[in-house]
Amino acid sequence: MQRTYIKDLSNHIDQEVKVQGWLQTLRDQKKMQFLILRDRTGLVQVAHYRPANEELANQISALGSESALTITGKVVKNEVVKLGGLEIQLETLTVENAAEIPLPYDPFDDENVPAVDFRMDWRYLDLRRPQNRLIFDVQTSMEHAMREFWLKNDFIEIHSPKTTSSPSESGAELFQIDYFDRKGYLTQSPQFYKQMGMAAGFERVFEIGPVFRADPSFTSRHMTEFTGLDLEMSWIDSHEDVMELTERWLQYAYQQVKEKHGSQIEETFGFELQVPEVPFPRITMADALKALKEVGYELPPEKKGDLDPGGERALAEYIKNKYGHDFFFLIDWPVSVRPFYHMHHPDQPELTRSFDLIAGGLEIATGAQREHRYEVLKKQALEKGLGLENIQYYLDFFRYGCPPHGGFGMGLSRLLMVMLQISNIRETVYLFRGPNRLNP
Ligand code: ATP
Repeated sequence: MQRTYIKDLSNHIDQEVKVQGWLQTLRDQKKMQFLILRDRTGLVQVAHYRPANEELANQISALGSESALTITGKVVKNEVVKLGGLEIQLETLTVENAAEIPLPYDPFDDENVPAVDFRMDWRYLDLRRPQNRLIFDVQTSMEHAMREFWLKNDFIEIHSPKTTSSPSESGAELFQIDYFDRKGYLTQSPQFYKQMGMAAGFERVFEIGPVFRADPSFTSRHMTEFTGLDLEMSWIDSHEDVMELTERWLQYAYQQVKEKHGSQIEETFGFELQVPEVPFPRITMADALKALKEVGYELPPEKKGDLDPGGERALAEYIKNKYGHDFFFLIDWPVSVRPFYHMHHPDQPELTRSFDLIAGGLEIATGAQREHRYEVLKKQALEKGLGLENIQYYLDFFRYGCPPHGGFGMGLSRLLMVMLQISNIRETVYLFRGPNRLNP
């Protein structure tokens, strides 16, 4: 018999069906047993009359909740049943995988939700919670919309290697690996390789892939491995062209998510998803520092031209008050806090043509126009104290005709945090990786 999804049962009244799912609750009464079965589409009540089959009744009584079951039975209308006014009269039951008793924790007990670290140990149970399923439904639709936008705008998808011989960002956050008889590293971003796509004449590339950072910090927004949304585009005039595309791309993704999941997001998370208007406000780093002074926020002195998370939030509040916007680009960062490959401003050489995108008070992306002139790029690398031998393969990309270009890198789980107003990244990633967590 073919499986019927619970959501389709009303089309099968008075027919025999096969349903498959998890035992959410069992009401084991003297005469009747009621099993609430859950599949990915909903819940249904399955009724069993004890005297009809005592052996089966005993088997049901012994079932732990969350056991995986296959059930056949007849669908009947029953007005008193809250779940859709129908129930299944049980005929056969197969226990595909019995759940041990007790559960490490009950994912459906909203009164007693354990701390996130404990839930991470039992992530597969945690992911059975409907609000968690929704996060990944949203993620799926969002990525689909993002690709759709990119494809409509002539981007090519690339898959760059995740092993490399040299760092692309700061050397401090590198995972070193044994690569046969030499040292290798896990890539901290596809930066160099997506730029190679520009030298290759692909003109517009994107990649959705893993990014590794040996960052020993324990924050609510850092992971040692995350999924990066990366883009690079050629023949731009400045970082403005990248920002202009980024905001339209995000707007499209939000629109699609709202269309598909807006009402469920409202029901589950209690807010209406707002599609951001474009253009997003832009504020220079210099003006941002003035604004922070104005609102009385003091940056820690060691930050020297960079922002700390408190500064990002204070600035977000300032922008929200001034422009009514949750997204903004913080532009024109000083050379001192940006990597060597960011292009400097032609008329203000101490500044870069770069931006961070801040959303809901959180940094979600960094982008820039890249330096594509071989001699200038070499000079900038030397000024940052880099050894050219290690990155010569990268510098070689700029020797035989590389167009002006720029792009950004964004963290997928950070964007989901912002979109769904979730404060800890451990909740918006399928499986978290941090300094203390290498399994499950
Ligand atoms: P932060 O200042 O928050 O540590 P970063 O400046 O190191 O971030 P970039 O190197 O610019 O970040 O990376 C681009 C984007 O990748 C970030 O804006 C963020 O969305 C995401 N990202 C960076 N590091 C992490 C991380 N450790 N965990 C999750 N996402 C990250």
